[in-house]
Amino acid sequence: MHEMSLAEGILQLVEDTARREAARRVSGVILEIGALASVEIEALRFCFDAVTRDTLAAAARLEIRVLPGQGWCMPCGQSVPLTALTDPCPQCGSFQVQPVSGMEMRVKEIEIE
Ligand SMILES: [Zn+2]
Repeated sequence: MHEMSLAEGILQLVEDTARREAARRVSGVILEIGALASVEIEALRFCFDAVTRDTLAAAARLEIRVLPGQGWCMPCGQSVPLTALTDPCPQCGSFQVQPVSGMEMRVKEIEIE
């Protein structure tokens, strides 16, 4: 599962940070995920809970902020909001839309104690 490897990557980063800061525990993790990143939020939460078991981040609250997607519609010649990579342009219905943002995923903040 794609979300499992994402969760493992996040845990790695969280543990590295916690170790560097000599933290006793991690209380929260804030993630930013683009609406077009093809990440199942609920699956990611489930995997995060699973991989953090018995780690410093076992009790960490996972906050996920979804960033809106945007694409460039060629027929319209302007950027338009996108909720999925396969969405047509909301203005003209064309599928000639190039996604320009909303594919990213990053750890925004790690709260430690
Ligand atoms: Zn259009």
